[in-house]
Amino acid sequence: MRKTNYHTHTYRCMHAGGSDEEYVLAAIKGGYEEIGFSDHSPWRYDSDFVAHMRMSLSQFDDYYSSIMTLKEKYKDQISIKIGLECEYFPKYMKWLKQFVKEKQLDYIIFGNHYRESDELRIYYGNACIDDDELRNYVDDAIEGMKTGLYAYLCHPDLFMRSGRKFDDTTREQCYRLCEAAKKYQIPLEYNGAGLEFNMLHRVEEYPYHEFWKIAKEVGNTAIIGIDAHTPRALANPTYYEQALHNLETIGISLTDSIRFFEH
Ligand SMILES: [Zn+2]
Ligand SMILES: [Zn+2]
Repeated sequence: MRKTNYHTHTYRCMHAGGSDEEYVLAAIKGGYEEIGFSDHSPWRYDSDFVAHMRMSLSQFDDYYSSIMTLKEKYKDQISIKIGLECEYFPKYMKWLKQFVKEKQLDYIIFGNHYRESDELRIYYGNACIDDDELRNYVDDAIEGMKTGLYAYLCHPDLFMRSGRKFDDTTREQCYRLCEAAKKYQIPLEYNGAGLEFNMLHRVEEYPYHEFWKIAKEVGNTAIIGIDAHTPRALANPTYYEQALHNLETIGISLTDSIRFFEH
């Protein structure tokens, strides 16, 4: 099993710290063979909405050139890929598809954070306490996976951040999500940042054990994503190793690689 991580943020999303180079140095120290940068995607909104958790469109070129410089500089020590963490926003998908191709990204991963567009400000991490919003979350996850654009689904159990009970409705929606992921052959991410949060705060939000038992039963493939918002998250082996241990205990099949675009 190679040690890889395709879920890495940068300071441009305004809620991550450190320089791009510090993430690379931390990943080398942490023993990663390959990492991918996947900062929160910019979108070209058709309103004057300004998001506060993602880079702006005008910052993208700097993001790209910075990562490309590091890729070359450290090529003998680590393999570096460039991507983005993107939502599924139906009205902007045509733009996203074009953008990804035009910018020659290696991959994108699917962070199903908001319904329709963050212009509506419905964050699934809170909203899914409501059964209808949980269904919307799963509907969006399925529609997004269907596009074939995303290398994997990030924190699939994000909805457990809302304080939901893992009741029959939750269970039923988990099966829907996992079965679709299996059908479209999309790996599910076991999220390192969430695991760290759970362990530090002695809570269980995501990753949520019952969800992963269902994923195992359905026959999904898991991938570990650190979701690094600080360089330290890559240098520190604790949560990667705990994630590996948890997944091995569950017995779910595990991958260390993703599918890259062939432009
Ligand atoms: Zn995310
Ligand atoms: Zn993320």
